[in-house]
Amino acid sequence: MTGTSLAPRPRASRWLLAGWMATAAFVGFRFVPAANASHTHTGWDQKHIATIHGNDGPAGGGSGPGSLDEEYCIMSETSAMPASTIAPFIQETLAALSFDTIWDGSADWRVDLWRTQKYCNEYSTADRNRIEIEYRVRETWASVCGGDIYACVTSVSPVTDSSGAHQHYKYMNVHLKREQMAALGSTTRARKFINHETGHVLGLRDPEYYGHCMHSVMHNNLYSSLGCTDPVWHPTPSDFASVRSIANRTN
Ligand SMILES: [Zn+2]
Ligand SMILES: [Zn+2]
Repeated sequence: MTGTSLAPRPRASRWLLAGWMATAAFVGFRFVPAANASHTHTGWDQKHIATIHGNDGPAGGGSGPGSLDEEYCIMSETSAMPASTIAPFIQETLAALSFDTIWDGSADWRVDLWRTQKYCNEYSTADRNRIEIEYRVRETWASVCGGDIYACVTSVSPVTDSSGAHQHYKYMNVHLKREQMAALGSTTRARKFINHETGHVLGLRDPEYYGHCMHSVMHNNLYSSLGCTDPVWHPTPSDFASVRSIANRTN
C-alpha cells in the first residue's frame, strides 16, 4: 500500500505546527487557491481512483456498472457495529441524499458509485479484486492510519493513465473508525468522515497549513486543529469543481 491521506490527521508536533503558523502568516497570500477551488494531487503521482476520467455505464441507474464506473463494497470488523447497520447509512450518504450534497453523479457522472450486493469480505479474492473502493469499519486503524484517532484512505496498485502523464490507483480503501460512524447525537458527524475520505478517493487533498480553510468538506471543522471552523458535512461547489478538473485532467 502506498499513500495515506488522513482526516483528521495533524501531521506535525505542536511545536512544528507553531512554526508553520508563522510561515503561513508570512507567505500565506501566495497560496490562496485560484477560484477558491479545493486542491488536488498534481504531477506524476496522483492519488485518485483510476476510473474517474471516464464514464461508460448508464448514469445513475440501468442494468449495472460499466468498467469505468466505481463499485464499492462495505465491511465491518467490529461486532459493535455490524456491516448490516452501517452499510445503508454509507450508501445513503454517498448516493441517496439531495443531489447537491452527494458525490455520486459528480463530474457529469464520471463519478458513478455502485454499491456491491455483498459485503467486501463475502467475495472470493478474484471477485473482490473487481471492486474499486472498499469502506472498512473497525474499532481502530492505528496500524494503517498512523494513530488511533485517525481515519485514512490507502491507495493500492498504481497504474499509468491513458494520457501517459500521471499515475493513479486501481484500488482505494477507506478506513473508518466505529466511533466516527456512531451517531453521537448527530448523523452529520459521521457523514463528514464518509464524505471527506471519499473526497480523498476522488483526488482531493487535506489542508496543508494553519488557516488553509475554505467552504469544503476537505477543509471543514474536522480540521479545527488548523483553525478551520466550517461545519459543512457534504461536498461543496468547490469540491465538485476540483473533482471535475481531475476527471478532465486539467488539475
Ligand atoms: Zn483528509
Ligand atoms: Zn487519473
